[in-house]
Amino acid sequence: MAKKEMEVKLISIPENLLDVVYTACRTCYSADGAVEIYENHTNDKDKMLSLIKKVISSGHYSTIEHIQLTFAINNVSRAATHQLVRHRHMSFSQKSQRYVREKGEFDFIVPPAIEANKELYEKFKNHMEQTANLYQEFLQSGIKGEDARSILPNATVSSLVTSLNLRELIHLANLRLCTRAQLEIRMLVKKMCALVEEKEPWLAEHLVPKCERLGYCDEDNSCGRMKTKNG
Ligand SMILES: Cc1cc2nc3c(=O)[nH]c(=O)nc-3n(C[C@H](O)[C@H](O)[C@H](O)COP(=O)(O)OP(=O)(O)OC[C@H]3O[C@@H](n4cnc5c(N)ncnc54)[C@H](O)[C@@H]3O)c2cc1C
Repeated sequence: MAKKEMEVKLISIPENLLDVVYTACRTCYSADGAVEIYENHTNDKDKMLSLIKKVISSGHYSTIEHIQLTFAINNVSRAATHQLVRHRHMSFSQKSQRYVREKGEFDFIVPPAIEANKELYEKFKNHMEQTANLYQEFLQSGIKGEDARSILPNATVSSLVTSLNLRELIHLANLRLCTRAQLEIRMLVKKMCALVEEKEPWLAEHLVPKCERLGYCDEDNSCGRMKTKNG
């Protein structure tokens, strides 16, 4: 039984991301066909970005739905993955708790707020240990993994591959980078965005909490980054 640290890897992003988005943008507003536009387009990145930014800021989001991104993610809690799977335009392949039995004692994620309190952290670890023992007892008594898992906690570690398009990544960032989002999913989405920004730095201005997009905070109480609509 061990505490684990989150790992995120961007395993697929189109090499020609900018060319694809630029072609999609120009196709909507040009007399030329999409094939000619793709084959003969400018290589001037600034020119391409200038049009792309204008199109995205006008809300013409279909142009960025053509970009598919895939991440491999290790060591996130079931609590975090349960929040992630609520996003309906994402695809998931997640480690099964039916077919993959936790090896002996399961791994878990410790929320920093619990880890910071020595006494509560000890209680947390004891609880995990007791649960692991009971889980093993169930399996050894012939209970199937799919039923024994019912006692595994939200803290249990999971692993998944997830894919989403660029429009959905921006939406995910807008919601989950907000300080109102739970810390673990916020850290996960922050890592996903950082990996994309490493490849495509121009996306940094879009991969932001929703307040930066709105120009104000739409929550009841602002964290201080932006004022609420009524000040
Ligand atoms: C801080 C925070 C707290 C939350 N707390 C709770 C909670 O207490 N309980 C709870 O149940 N959930 C909670 N959620 C989850 C939330 O309700 C959404 O299910 C989740 O954030 C997915 O967001 P979404 O629907 O905008 O995005 P996605 O599913 O990623 O969809 C993206 C966009 O596509 C459009 N769309 C997708 N599906 C439909 C549809 N069927 N009809 C119309 N438009 C659609 C919408 O415009 C949507 O915004 C919370 C989320 C956050 C960020």
